[in-house]
Amino acid sequence: MTRIKRYQKIVKELKKKYNYECQICGFSFIMDNGEKYCEAHHLKHLSKGGNQDAENVIILCSNHHRQFHYSENKINIGDLIEGKRKIYIDGKYLIVRF
Ligand SMILES: [Zn+2]
Ligand SMILES: [Zn+2]
Repeated sequence: MTRIKRYQKIVKELKKKYNYECQICGFSFIMDNGEKYCEAHHLKHLSKGGNQDAENVIILCSNHHRQFHYSENKINIGDLIEGKRKIYIDGKYLIVRF
């Protein structure tokens, strides 16, 4: 399996795992084709040594995805501990399940 195909498979599985809803706010919407919309984001950029593994991917709504990109210095992502990460966003800490 190619790297890209492997990654696409991981993303597909993660979207399903999180019911196609944003891991930060739970938002999703149903598209015309009947599928729920969400996006996948790398917690650590590939250009900064991040990998394509599931632990490095978060499922987000389009707003939070943009926020993770345009406001990344104001967001702090904690280590994965017992299936959870502490994420600092919008001035508060959230406990997010992974
Ligand atoms: Zn969201
Ligand atoms: Zn992204």
